[in-house]
Amino acid sequence: MKDNIKLFKVIFWVITSFVVLFIGTIGTLFTLNAREFSQDDKLALMIITVIFSIILIVVILMAVFVHKDAKRLHLNPWMWTLIVVYGPNGLGLIIYLIIRSNEKKKLRCIKCGVPVDRDFKICPHCGQQFGKTCSSCGKFIQEEWSVCPYCEEKLT
Ligand SMILES: [Zn+2]
Ligand SMILES: [Zn+2]
Repeated sequence: MKDNIKLFKVIFWVITSFVVLFIGTIGTLFTLNAREFSQDDKLALMIITVIFSIILIVVILMAVFVHKDAKRLHLNPWMWTLIVVYGPNGLGLIIYLIIRSNEKKKLRCIKCGVPVDRDFKICPHCGQQFGKTCSSCGKFIQEEWSVCPYCEEKLT
């Protein structure tokens, strides 16, 4: 799992540096030939630059959000950043949001947040011991509680 994260991190930065290099080259070529452009061309170029900058900012914000969110949910943060940033037409983000909602439904360790099975007695990741689970909502509860604080179910 750790090696996987590293691998996707490397893939992400390799692709990103190629993209940055490519955009930089095009930008430089345009700037060098700017004198030959007419006034109309310059205006069109400026509009394209503005639109492009806005898209770039949105993509960066999206990448930061997905990266942090995936880390919190114990998903591979670099793999999902890669998919969301380079997936066509925002498809990556849609897939991520679907996976994310499934992932959020899973029962999690109360200490470290890693997904765990309902019948686990102890967290395989951090060693936290689990008590009973509520028969109504399935969340972890403590022995001495008489009412489930999550769903208000009476506990026996
Ligand atoms: Zn844990
Ligand atoms: Zn409950």
